[in-house]
Amino acid sequence: MDDVLIRVEDVYFAYRADEPDAVPALNGISLTIRRGEYVAIVGHNGSGKSTLARHLNALLLPTRGKVYVQGMDTTDPRHTLAIRRIVGMVFQDPDNQIVGTLVEEDVAFGPENLGVPRPALVQRVEKALQAVRLWELRHRPPHLLSGGQRQRVAIAGVLAMEPACLVLDEATSMLDPASRAEVLQVVGRLHAAGTTIIAITHFMEEAALAERIIVLAGGKIALEGTPQEVFSQRERLRELRLVPPTPARLAEAVHARSGVAFVPLPLTRTALVQAVHAHAVHVPAGGRL
Ligand code: ADP
Ligand code: MG
Repeated sequence: MDDVLIRVEDVYFAYRADEPDAVPALNGISLTIRRGEYVAIVGHNGSGKSTLARHLNALLLPTRGKVYVQGMDTTDPRHTLAIRRIVGMVFQDPDNQIVGTLVEEDVAFGPENLGVPRPALVQRVEKALQAVRLWELRHRPPHLLSGGQRQRVAIAGVLAMEPACLVLDEATSMLDPASRAEVLQVVGRLHAAGTTIIAITHFMEEAALAERIIVLAGGKIALEGTPQEVFSQRERLRELRLVPPTPARLAEAVHARSGVAFVPLPLTRTALVQAVHAHAVHVPAGGRL
């Protein structure tokens, strides 16, 4: 099977394209997303992240250029439903996505609308709720759950449609740190099980979890690479007004002060602790790093 899941070819998009007050939002974007990849999209407010995300499941159509999902052109209305099944979207506010009065009803809503018959529907709901670790809470009303739990309900609702790809547009930005961690764990497990993940985030620590980071600026790709490659480009990041993850900044501060360079650059707390430990064992007791 083709390794490429999504292909974006030189896409331009403007809001109110035909009006005098048109707002250009995407200005020539080309990228491919491979099946099973975990990609983070970052960039300053207004850089075009959400506009790009909405092109990936035909919620928006390019003013110029093409988007293909599993080879299907998103501008062809015959493919719209199939594309929306392949690419599921999770937005910032779980409460705008939850429609059911009970957790399990909410999760059943999407596949029910796709016409999934009863026995299969029950199985899908259970599988989706197990994936987000909410099976025990299936009879609860969603509004009694925490923010993180409600976002997991929203994710389960999308998973029940069995998408190959999950696009999360700032899906953790309204959550407290503990709830964010819960959602990120779920995302990590889904990726490990084969789901393609496209995570839009303004938390660089989250972006560092991805296999590849795409940085947008002014509706164009400004920088792209592995987290190591992207976060090592300090000057470029500064120009783009992006701040690397805290562990990377600490490592750079140590480097500036002591000359000790951590290679590769630690991007997580665990990596920083390991890097410091590896250096510390070469320092005599009571010595200075
Ligand atoms: P991001 O998600 O990176 O913050 P957006 O994709 O939301 O960026 O926005 C890109 C550009 O398009 C910005 O200039 C923004 O003001 C504009 N824009 C976004 N949504 C709309 C809309 N519904 N109507 C008009 N302009 C919009
Ligand atoms: Mg946005």
